[in-house]
Amino acid sequence: MEISYQIKYLKKRFPLRISRGTRDGQHNLFIQVTDNGLTGLGETSPGASEGAATAELAQESLVKFLANPHDLNAIFSTYDKAIEAKVAPCALAALDMALWDLKAKKARMPLYQMLGYKKPSKATSITIGIMSPEEVKERLPLILEQDAIRTLKVKLGNPAGIEADKAMYNEVLNYHKKYPIAIRVDANGGWSAKDAKHMMGWLAQRNCDYVEQPLKEGEEEDLPYLYKNRALPIFLDESCRFASNIPNWAHTVDGVNMKLMKCGGITGALRIIATANAFGLKTMIGCMGESSISIAAGVAVSGALDHIDLDSHLNLNPDPCTGAPLVDEVITPLEIAGHGGQFRTDL
Ligand SMILES: [Mg+2]
Repeated sequence: MEISYQIKYLKKRFPLRISRGTRDGQHNLFIQVTDNGLTGLGETSPGASEGAATAELAQESLVKFLANPHDLNAIFSTYDKAIEAKVAPCALAALDMALWDLKAKKARMPLYQMLGYKKPSKATSITIGIMSPEEVKERLPLILEQDAIRTLKVKLGNPAGIEADKAMYNEVLNYHKKYPIAIRVDANGGWSAKDAKHMMGWLAQRNCDYVEQPLKEGEEEDLPYLYKNRALPIFLDESCRFASNIPNWAHTVDGVNMKLMKCGGITGALRIIATANAFGLKTMIGCMGESSISIAAGVAVSGALDHIDLDSHLNLNPDPCTGAPLVDEVITPLEIAGHGGQFRTDL
C-alpha cells in the first residue's frame, strides 16, 4: 500500500470559544492510503490532549510507526499495535479511518452499511461557543433561520464564572419561545463540583437535556457527588477517551461522548459503542475541528448512537472536502462506497 500526506489550513466561519480558549482555524493532516487503484482517505485534527499538538507532529508519529512493516489489511491488529507503539490517537484516527474507507471501497459498500449500522436519522446539534448575550442575539438567528437547526449544544464553563454562564444561557433560552429547540450544555470541565451541582439544578428547570463534562479531566473523584440525586444526565467527554476508560466511570455517569480524534478512529469507536452498550450507558459522538472527510467517517458509526454532534465542517469557510451533507438537520452519509468523504476538486 502507498501512503501520502498533505497538510491543509481549515479556516473557521465563526471562531469557537470554549472554557479553555478560542480558535479561528487550524492546520489538519490528511492521509491517502492507496492499494490496487483504490484510495482510502483520513484526517487528523491535531490537539495536544489527543497526542499531537500540530499536523506535523501527527505526521511524524505515523511515519515513525509505518517505518516498520505492518499488515494494514488487518485493521484491528494495526490499531492495537499503533496504540502499543504510542502513536498519537489523533494521528491514528487518520490512518484508521483511511483503512476502513479503503476496505469499504474494496467491498463496494458505504462504510456505515459494511459496519452493520443503520443509516443515521438523528439531528445533529450545532455548537454555540462561549459568548456574550449580545453575541447570542447576532448568532442564533443565523443558525435557527438560515440553517433551520433545532438542536443546540451550548458551551458553558465561562472563566468569568457561572453568572456569565447564566446570562448567556438565558439569552439562548429566549429563542426557545419562538422555536422548538432542544438544548444540551457542555461545560468542558469549566466548573467546580459545587458550581456543577448548582448549574445542573438550574439548567434542569430551563429546558436543558443533559450536561457534558461538568468537571475537569482528572477531577473524576467528585463524580459520585454530582451523580447522586442529579437533576440532569451526565455525559463524559474529556474524561473518557477509550473504551477501557468506561468501566471506571460507568456507575457515576449516564453517557459518554466519543470522538474519533480521542479514541484513534473507527476501530476505537466500535469498541466504545460495544462497551457503553454493555454498561447500559447512552452514547454520543462529537468532533474536533474536522472537515467533511473526518466527519463522514464519524457519520459511518452515528446510526448506532443516541446523540449526534457532528458540526465542525459546517463552520468552515471553505470546507476543503465534501461527503457529509446536512439534510433536514441530519448529517447524512452518501450512498457511495467508503465513508463518502472526498477532497473538493473545485477549490
Ligand atoms: Mg465536549
